[in-house]
Amino acid sequence: MKLIKKINHFSTIIRKWLTKANFNCPSCGSKESIVIDRKNLILTLRRCYQCQLLFKVPTTSLEENILHYNREEDLDFASQLPSMLELSKLINSQFKETAGDCSSKIQILKLLGCQSGENLLDFGGAWGYHSWQLKQAGYKVQSFEISAKTCYYARNALEIDAYGSWEELTTPIDIFFSIHALEHIPNLKETIDKAWHILKPGGLFIAFTANGCRSFRAKNKVNWYKSWENGHINFLDEVYYNNIFQAFPRIMLSTMDNVYSAEQLKTWNQIEPSCEITDLSGSELFIAARKPK
Ligand SMILES: [Zn+2]
Repeated sequence: MKLIKKINHFSTIIRKWLTKANFNCPSCGSKESIVIDRKNLILTLRRCYQCQLLFKVPTTSLEENILHYNREEDLDFASQLPSMLELSKLINSQFKETAGDCSSKIQILKLLGCQSGENLLDFGGAWGYHSWQLKQAGYKVQSFEISAKTCYYARNALEIDAYGSWEELTTPIDIFFSIHALEHIPNLKETIDKAWHILKPGGLFIAFTANGCRSFRAKNKVNWYKSWENGHINFLDEVYYNNIFQAFPRIMLSTMDNVYSAEQLKTWNQIEPSCEITDLSGSELFIAARKPK
């Protein structure tokens, strides 16, 4: 089965390569890009000249992506729905020490001054384990998830306000919050524009993603390579974020492997349209950008 999947995947890449149908930037559509890294003759990582996004070529279309997340192919924590017994154990442990534990990220929200009671959108919320923890932390949570099955599970098993389309969301929101989702979506610009549009004036855009930054590549070339080559269709980095959020106050850190400064998050200048950056050499990239009041 695994072999058939691999053959299908490879033949899709060959077909796309031969027809050159999937070489444009998946986010802004630009035809101009430069090769940054390559796996083999046909699979490359490119940077878009127009929007500066790092993306994998051949690219994945929005339709292919929706189809992928509505199939039961992956068996990672985000896509494997737990039985009711497993779920009750996870809830009893508050997801501590599981792949779905987001307590350290909730700590970052608090350091940034996000108050309990604020309206938060958990973008790419899968079956609701992050949304559940965010609700426990006091936020009014809605979840956005394109997989119909996981979205249904979040609604019914965890009582999360989970939706599969932007139109169903109650807006505006105070916080757009996303953990390892932006690197999986082809229509990134459209998504960020929509997120920015539904944020209240003074609202906060927050994303955790795999780290495409040069300093991570310099520190750990093997893991940087694995990260774009394996599954991710975009690779977020400081060059892209600085381009799209250049008019707004923003802060970027590397979380997970690096010890970030709590003080820096607390004292971040959220008024000037400038960027605060510290060490970006860890495997996870964090950004917060503030929409002006
Ligand atoms: Zn682009």
